[in-house]
Amino acid sequence: MQDDTTIDRDGDAGCSTAPAAGRTKDPGTGHPRPPRREFKARGSFVSRCDSCQLPALNCLCPFRVTARSEAKVWLLTHPLEHYKPTNTGRLIGDVLTDTEVFTWYRTAPDERLLALLDDERYSPFVIFPDDQPDYADRVVGMERVGASRQSGRVPVFIILDGTWRQARRIFRKSPYLDRLPVLPLATERRTRYRLRKPASAAHLCTAEVAIELLRQAEDAEAAEVLDDYFDAFNDSYAASRRHEKLEAPTAAMRRLLKRAAR
Ligand SMILES: [Zn+2]
Repeated sequence: MQDDTTIDRDGDAGCSTAPAAGRTKDPGTGHPRPPRREFKARGSFVSRCDSCQLPALNCLCPFRVTARSEAKVWLLTHPLEHYKPTNTGRLIGDVLTDTEVFTWYRTAPDERLLALLDDERYSPFVIFPDDQPDYADRVVGMERVGASRQSGRVPVFIILDGTWRQARRIFRKSPYLDRLPVLPLATERRTRYRLRKPASAAHLCTAEVAIELLRQAEDAEAAEVLDDYFDAFNDSYAASRRHEKLEAPTAAMRRLLKRAAR
């Protein structure tokens, strides 16, 4: 989950770029409207790598390393989050290539997701805080993930990828999630995400949520790789915003390069 109070400094908050398709007259007055100027967000002119979408100045591609995990991640991503280059959900799919990504639409649930939720091979958990009483009976702890593993089912973390408000909406407006156990993430981790301004250091971004879940589910190596990749993403992006080319790889980057060379 990302933060609500987020100031996405790339300015690509989705709705602000929506074209006024074909509406050349003011619906109220009937008067012709002046042509609407295209919204140009800050960052629109930045030259980006076609593959990782980061500013080309500090491209992330050399540090892309894959890992394997017992537990899987399925992202249920809010449509406004998909195209933001600062979205960290996509980092999970870069590292864990069997990550599933579904776009959430309130009125049109993804058929493939519905089929996977009925698939006996998987044991899905919705990752969400346990701060409301009306679903307290569905809240489970990490030991249930271990139990699923023991019984031969693949644990799946369903992470709601959007701002906190969007995630809450996805949780509340998706009836097919209502029968799933809810797994709150209990962690002392403080966010290290630097590309958007968090309301609280306890609010982790989507990749960090996955890192902590994997760590707690004893997928230590996958957690480590993703954590390093997340740091590389943060440092690369932040440097590009300062118009600086990173002179030398950071410690996390060096660990990833070492893995990539194996
Ligand atoms: Zn790249």
